[in-house]
Amino acid sequence: MIKRSFFGIKKPVLEYNILGSAASEVKTIPIPETVLLFSDNVFESLDSVILKSGDSVKTGQKLSITRTDSIISTVTGTVKNVTTYSGDFGRKYSAITIEVSDAEEKDTAFSDVADNPLPDAIAEYLTYLPGKPGISLFTDSGRFKCLVISGMDDDLLVTTRQSILKENFNSVKKGIKKLKQLTNIEKIYMTVPERLGQEAVAAGADALVIDSCYPSANPSFIVEKITGSPVPAGKQIEDEGFCFISVEAVASIGEAFENKQVPVNKTFTLTDKYNRQKLVSARIGTPLKDIFKELYVTINENDRIVIGGPMKGAAVYSEDYSICPDTDAVIVQDKSDLPFVTDSYCINCGECIRICPAKVPVNTLIRLLEAGEYEEAADNHDLNSCIDCGLCSYVCTAGIPIFHYIRLAKYELSRIEVAEEA
Ligand code: SF4
Ligand code: SF4
Repeated sequence: MIKRSFFGIKKPVLEYNILGSAASEVKTIPIPETVLLFSDNVFESLDSVILKSGDSVKTGQKLSITRTDSIISTVTGTVKNVTTYSGDFGRKYSAITIEVSDAEEKDTAFSDVADNPLPDAIAEYLTYLPGKPGISLFTDSGRFKCLVISGMDDDLLVTTRQSILKENFNSVKKGIKKLKQLTNIEKIYMTVPERLGQEAVAAGADALVIDSCYPSANPSFIVEKITGSPVPAGKQIEDEGFCFISVEAVASIGEAFENKQVPVNKTFTLTDKYNRQKLVSARIGTPLKDIFKELYVTINENDRIVIGGPMKGAAVYSEDYSICPDTDAVIVQDKSDLPFVTDSYCINCGECIRICPAKVPVNTLIRLLEAGEYEEAADNHDLNSCIDCGLCSYVCTAGIPIFHYIRLAKYELSRIEVAEEA
């Protein structure tokens, strides 16, 4: 989904959007008639599903599809159905459709959790927050020596996190204070553009000023900046004792404990067909079609909708897809502006190797990935050194969707690993 002409700039200068000093205007989308909520946990059979069609739910209520998962209802209404949904590479999700009632009723159960915050209970309520903090932050915080709050957006054309830090500063500050109590992690950094360095410090974190050149905000570079050495190939950032969390998740934690209610509105940056950006706030679960209608965005046949930024986002095939807790950006591309992508062969021009910040031998890697030889790619061609920046696809002379192949390979290898463990 990389689109060279989309940016109107030539390589290698790819710069993050940096918010100006003026207040950010955020357009709030009305609550839709139905919401569609996704859960990573997939049920075995409908008989095993705890939540049933016809169940009444309140805003902020914890919902369980299976015995091992929970998500939060972001509206008041009636469950219409529980089904499965196929995402990227055929990855399966559970999907709950809720018909929204006229009168909103707020669930009060989180109030007890806020007064007596035990790790498992907090995790059940807070991992579906806007910004989607990782569950291990609450249940296994002892493994982390350092928390890094992403106040800098890590894809192009996106200013969601910067806007949250600017406009929700008090919630961010309260969230950091609460996180210190809940996790006992002493060292807290916040990545920010230079303009927001003071806010990071005033909120209670050490400021890590990120330059505007993509991909400086990539977590691998942040860890290297802090420790002075790169994350070893094949190791996860978490293995090195680092936990990353978005500033929106931190603000949501601050709000949750302040109001004793789970926040349910997600902020994201919408880029339209004319490359104009707008900050938008909508209930988690709001279908894209409701957002487009409210913002007068027309989708024609063969136009493309991308969830995420232009370098790392992924296309979705339906306007029924909805806003998730981690949706930081939505891009709409006109069919006449779609990137040049082919299934032709690598011509060995070397552009991908020159631009790859992780020094991956991309030209040999892609040959293996095209042949489906994922284990060989991981064992001998540095697949696991890739930091998922998407630059190789952006520069590929032959128009090969390299990053798509890389993501598919990593997904397939993770499935093999899970199967072997089982
Ligand atoms: S996405 Fe491509 S350019 Fe970026 S680190 Fe991975 S292989 Fe290198
Ligand atoms: S940029 Fe594309 S064509 Fe050039 S070496 Fe890399 S994979 Fe091959």
